[in-house]
Amino acid sequence: MSFKTEYMKDLMTRVEKNHPAEPEFHQAVKEVLLCMESVAERNPKYVEAGIFERIVEPERAIMFRVSWVDDAGKVQVNRGYRVQFNSAIGPYKGGLRLHPSVNLGVIKFLGFEQIFKNSLTGLPMGGGKGGSDFDPKGKSDGEIMRFCQSFMTELAKHIGADTDVPAGDIGVGAREIGYLFGQYKRLRNEFTGVLTGKGLSYGGSLVRTQATGYGLCYFTQEMLATKNDSFQDKTVVISGSGNVAIYAAEKATQLGGKVVALSDSNGYIYDPNGIDLAAVKEIKEVKRLRIKEYIENHPHAEYHEGCKGIWNIKCDIALPCATQNELDGESAQTLVANGVIAVAEGANMPSTPDAVDTFQAAGVLFAPGKASNAGGVATSGLEMSQNSMRYSWTSEEVDAKLKDIMKHIHTTCKQAATEYGEPNNYVLGANIGGFLKVAEAMYAQGVAY
Ligand code: NDP
Repeated sequence: MSFKTEYMKDLMTRVEKNHPAEPEFHQAVKEVLLCMESVAERNPKYVEAGIFERIVEPERAIMFRVSWVDDAGKVQVNRGYRVQFNSAIGPYKGGLRLHPSVNLGVIKFLGFEQIFKNSLTGLPMGGGKGGSDFDPKGKSDGEIMRFCQSFMTELAKHIGADTDVPAGDIGVGAREIGYLFGQYKRLRNEFTGVLTGKGLSYGGSLVRTQATGYGLCYFTQEMLATKNDSFQDKTVVISGSGNVAIYAAEKATQLGGKVVALSDSNGYIYDPNGIDLAAVKEIKEVKRLRIKEYIENHPHAEYHEGCKGIWNIKCDIALPCATQNELDGESAQTLVANGVIAVAEGANMPSTPDAVDTFQAAGVLFAPGKASNAGGVATSGLEMSQNSMRYSWTSEEVDAKLKDIMKHIHTTCKQAATEYGEPNNYVLGANIGGFLKVAEAMYAQGVAY
């Protein structure tokens, strides 16, 4: 896809020049700006107020040294990031990622996406994201704790329950959030809802662990319902085997689907009988081992090295839930040739632009992550509300709210896409639906930042 107007084309060129060597950030911005051409045409006031120029520039980007001591007594140094992208509609909100592939461009892309995602939830949350190039794989609990404490020693200066509220992402689950929260409390001497994804014994919300995966399936269900279809008896392929993938698999199964494959960054498992999720949880959540362990106790299942092959498995529904750009144009063509009817992104930007074009051209129901994986941050928003009220809702209450929010996001996407002339284009709908609220808030607040 290419730009039709000089205005957006020039803005994109400026982003590429001002943020060099950040391909993921450029990719995320381009997708949004391509959807903004008709918005700019219909709303000249946003052009006059420089909304588009401002929304692609982070309000603040913090980069810091994280030193910690490993189990051998050696000093290790990593780099930490927090990009506070946009606070027009609420405190910055977005996860922390710990993975060796993290750099400033990756965090900017994630923070930028978060602006629109958070807006779509209807909750008052701005966009931000953070993380480090620290690799948690193979580290002891003590090493993880010392890293998290050092990371928070700097991060604590920049966050707060009404300023910026981080959460988990790749490599950051309940264990890491616990260490981060403990250190924040120690430094500030205050018990506030400064992080979400907390343990239930110290302010966490029920259903937060499950929320992204469950929400993804609720959104997919809404898309399928537009074609009078459902998960019932569908074959489902899910990439990844982390937090999002596991709970997407759980909900897809509860809704009548059969999940036949999961993966990690080394390879994928295929179980034609349907994945035994209790075994996967034991391997990944309890023992923190590799997914290939699965075949030890499931000899009829297969393990294949490499991640990409998972998309060659014939399925009706594909849910990419691992990482960015994991599903390319070639894999998309294979999925289409094998009759896929719906693809919904659990990860952030897992489909390359070529893959998205392929799905849309083939009439596949395609949900972009900023809409379909928003259930995680939405439930984080619910955790913030419960913390402010010093009150806890039941699982049923949180799950019902999550379902309502995913339904609302689906409706918002559909309405915006219809209003802009492409009713089946969820990418257009999500970008415009998410943008308009933020743009109005930025417009109302004047040109102060
Ligand atoms: P986890 O760390 O729990 O799991 C990540 C999974 O993806 C693991 O199976 C991991 O395999 C795999 N993976 C990670 N990096 C790569 C890579 N470079 N290549 C192939 N596989 C990889 O993370 P989450 O489940 O929390 O996050 C997954 C995706 O969902 C991310 O894109 C994240 O941004 C997005 N997301 C997460 C939300 C949440 O609430 N957690 C909310 C919204 C979006 P391995 O173990 O081998 O590294």
